Amino acid sequence: MSQRIQFAQTGGSEVLERATVTPAEPAAGEVRIANKAVGLNFIDIYFRTGLYPAPALPSGLGTEGAGVVDAVGEGVTHVSVGDRVAYAQGPLGAYAEHHTLPAAKVVKLPDFIDFETAAASMLKGLTVQYLLRQTYALKGGETILFHAAAGGVGSIACQWAKALGVKLIGTVSSRDKADLAMQNGAWATINYTEEDVVERVRELTGGEMCDVVYDSVGKDTWEVSLNCLKPRALMVSFGNASGPVDGVNIGILNQKGSLFVTRPSLNGYADTRERLEIMCEDFFGMIESGKIKIDVTNRYPLADAGKAQDALQNRQTTGSTVLLP
Ligand code: NDP
Repeated sequence: MSQRIQFAQTGGSEVLERATVTPAEPAAGEVRIANKAVGLNFIDIYFRTGLYPAPALPSGLGTEGAGVVDAVGEGVTHVSVGDRVAYAQGPLGAYAEHHTLPAAKVVKLPDFIDFETAAASMLKGLTVQYLLRQTYALKGGETILFHAAAGGVGSIACQWAKALGVKLIGTVSSRDKADLAMQNGAWATINYTEEDVVERVRELTGGEMCDVVYDSVGKDTWEVSLNCLKPRALMVSFGNASGPVDGVNIGILNQKGSLFVTRPSLNGYADTRERLEIMCEDFFGMIESGKIKIDVTNRYPLADAGKAQDALQNRQTTGSTVLLP
């Protein structure tokens, strides 16, 4: 038998419950993983609250983890029982001692990445890979605005931008978060609780504004973000921490300077086995070279997943959080 966290109705963290289940046998093309560490991500909160619908209730939760393969289905060739692996996509259910998912979503872990580091960074690191290397292929020399710069995704983005020679201006809600973002390689920070973001971007850039804005806050920052862009620049809206952006009149892109906008997701970029492997190679290489260090700042027992989600949702965390089965 195996422990998992599930929810039978959407709502606050109190809807999360522990269940004892028989781990699913892998079907053809699937693998079962004995999780050693599980990643906590804001998207888990979107599913729990119902902003993103789970396919069926009751449902497991979580899409990221690292551990050891303990069973393989027919036709699986690239991983075997006993392999150290990690994953960041696939069906909900990673908040568990065992998780069964398509083998195509699972990658072998190199020796230099431990389970906690993998669970803390796979989803966030691959997200930064596509944001900085694909959605807009930064070359160095650009100025970008990145919201939530001291968070899980933001902490990796600061380091990757620095390594590329990109000036990252990070928004944060406190001095401590500003210090952390600067330590991670941000070029400047803006504490939006004290400063006007658009005016500060104007000052910092000498009136030029930004080549790209990466906005995972959503509703609260949409218009501020558009106002921080150069003419014909790119708005990357990739999350909804404050609620989804909706009801947009597309004419606003004309009014703000013939802007471009995109709303990407990891699944849209790592949509084939080949693309997933290329993205992992790039991200794992950044860890191996020491250019990116993963800050596992918060660890909770799996049973305390609700507490961990509350801390993330209430802006109390920096860096990454893992749940330990
Ligand atoms: P974070 O660790 O970044 O936590 C979220 C941070 O957002 C908070 O710490 C807070 O930082 C900031 N924030 C601003 N406004 C709010 C608000 N109203 N409520 C809560 N937080 C707020 O989380 P993750 O690293 O897990 O994810 C970051 C974002 O990236 C999320 O929006 C997530 O959905 C998105 N994402 C998107 C992906 C994609 O492919 N599209 C993939 C992965 C993540 P501060 O206090 O400094 O403002």
